[in-house]
Amino acid sequence: MKGFKRRDFVIFLLETVAALSLFFSYKNALTEKVDTWSEVVDIRVSEKEKGTKDSRGVDSERKEQQEEELQEKKIAITFDDGPHPVYTEKLLDGLKERNVKATFFVLGEKAKAHPEIIERMKEEGHIIGNHTYTHIQLRSSNRQQFRDELVLTNEVIKEITGQEVQYVRPPYGTWDKKLEEELNMFPVLWNIDPNDWCTGNADKVTRRIVDKAKENGIILLHDCYQSSVDAALSSIDILTEKGYQFVTVEEILFE
Ligand SMILES: [Zn+2]
Repeated sequence: MKGFKRRDFVIFLLETVAALSLFFSYKNALTEKVDTWSEVVDIRVSEKEKGTKDSRGVDSERKEQQEEELQEKKIAITFDDGPHPVYTEKLLDGLKERNVKATFFVLGEKAKAHPEIIERMKEEGHIIGNHTYTHIQLRSSNRQQFRDELVLTNEVIKEITGQEVQYVRPPYGTWDKKLEEELNMFPVLWNIDPNDWCTGNADKVTRRIVDKAKENGIILLHDCYQSSVDAALSSIDILTEKGYQFVTVEEILFE
């Protein structure tokens, strides 16, 4: 009986030890599991927070960028070789409708023939610049004649508007820097040229302008063609929609 009891006791002890070790290992496993789970949850929460913060940051940056684009994308539209009795008037109507100010580099002989159009340009807030009297190109052989044409054109414009002419666009872009001081005039070139004079297709010209458009761009067009006038007005509509603000060349060059 005694032996039996002892054996029973040993079995009981072994069972207890086994039960205890099972219990503790289960308890450990449970604790580990809980710890691991809470870590996972922590990580997920912090990733989510981080993610929200990041996406909020990206959103507000994008918004700021868009606002910046809307505020800063200035572009100027300029017209050479006019005024034309039909197309320039149509252009002025379209610009007025859209409240856009442009810059016109006029020929002295055409300004003299159509003073009412020059008057209207001034009244409606456009800038009037000089493009020589007869569209002469500056060469080493004709400097004096070129200079005389600029002076004569300034006189014609001033007689109509009562204002000094400050800007000149030399035909074909050929210029002599010394003339700036001699005549107190500032040359204005261009950086967006859709070659509007080579085609009568307004859509083609519009596409070229829209494709080449950039911040602080100066678009070169000629207001002596119907297609150029149509292209000017449709490009203004498209680029305004894209966040461009149309300004005079003065704002691009000096502000
Ligand atoms: Zn020209």
